Amino acid sequence: MVMILLGNSCSTGHHEEYIYLKGEALGTFYSITYYCPENKNFHDNIRDLFRQMEASMSIYDPGSIITAINKSEAGGETDSLFRTVFRKSVEISVLTGNAFDITVAPLVNAWGFGTTGRRNPGQEGIDSIMQYVGIDKVRLEGEMLVKDDPGVKLDMNAVAKGYMSDLVADFLESAGVKDYMVEVGGELRLKGDNPEGNPWRIGIDKPADDPAPAQRELQEILHITGRALATSGSYRRFFIEKGKKYSHTINPFTGYPVDHNLLSVTVVTSTAIEADAWATAFMVLGHEKSLHFAEEMEDIEAYFIYESSPGKLEVEYTKGFAAWLREESSVE
Ligand code: ADP
Ligand code: MG
Repeated sequence: MVMILLGNSCSTGHHEEYIYLKGEALGTFYSITYYCPENKNFHDNIRDLFRQMEASMSIYDPGSIITAINKSEAGGETDSLFRTVFRKSVEISVLTGNAFDITVAPLVNAWGFGTTGRRNPGQEGIDSIMQYVGIDKVRLEGEMLVKDDPGVKLDMNAVAKGYMSDLVADFLESAGVKDYMVEVGGELRLKGDNPEGNPWRIGIDKPADDPAPAQRELQEILHITGRALATSGSYRRFFIEKGKKYSHTINPFTGYPVDHNLLSVTVVTSTAIEADAWATAFMVLGHEKSLHFAEEMEDIEAYFIYESSPGKLEVEYTKGFAAWLREESSVE
């Protein structure tokens, strides 16, 4: 990728090519495509946003704000990115009756989906941890994150990728970009046209336990723009013990990885952080409850792939989702 730095805004002008940026950050991959009339390359600005995110909420960065808070006795200083993600996470917790809960960190670690190896902590292990789980055990007091017990820890991985997509999309909009596709670890924000002058085309993976990229098959292709979308699945990050599959989404009520027949859920809404949070919450709630939930909520559409009997996949989606499944649709 050749980097051309030409300044900070692009005004309307003559036609130029779309710009494609790719890279690695937040423990995942990103790809960004946009049309800028003056052909401006914003990769340096975008890398900067990624660095800010990592310094704020990467649990893998020993110097990050979240690491300091997790290691602390009673909390610590935050930055504005952290506060935005924290507030949105609390909001989604409330709306989902705590199915979404960023205080699952000690459970995520106990099951080895955090910074340590995969394992089953057993009922006793879980019982000893549950006292530290619950969004009511943390709060913001001004710029300080306060926690009730040293054992309370946060994990914002369920929304960090979505929020990163929003940050990049907002940045591009502020620079005057009107056509873009921002994707961070599979969570997307879309606007305007793709390079062919059509809505963006987004594939939903067919859930398969074999995660080899070459074997990936698509379940569906969406034609969609002006929206954000995120997919959560139990088929990518999991481990198998004694023939049983344990996925990386934790049910905060039981302390166990979610255990039902929902394999994948794709949520479409206006921001990627919300799509990302709802997708994780819906994985916890299961497809029947979630479908009902999504139909009731304004501005949330969802597409579920579940296993109706062993090996048999079925699909269900909200009424509003149908618009993106057809070739001729163009939604703004
Ligand atoms: P997916 O890759 O399936 O979209 P995400 O990466 O969005 O999933 O979120 C999964 C991560 O979220 C887990 O690895 C864990 O760190 C965290 N997590 C697990 N269960 C919950 C939960 N109930 N609420 C909030 N975060 C969770
Ligand atoms: Mg998520």
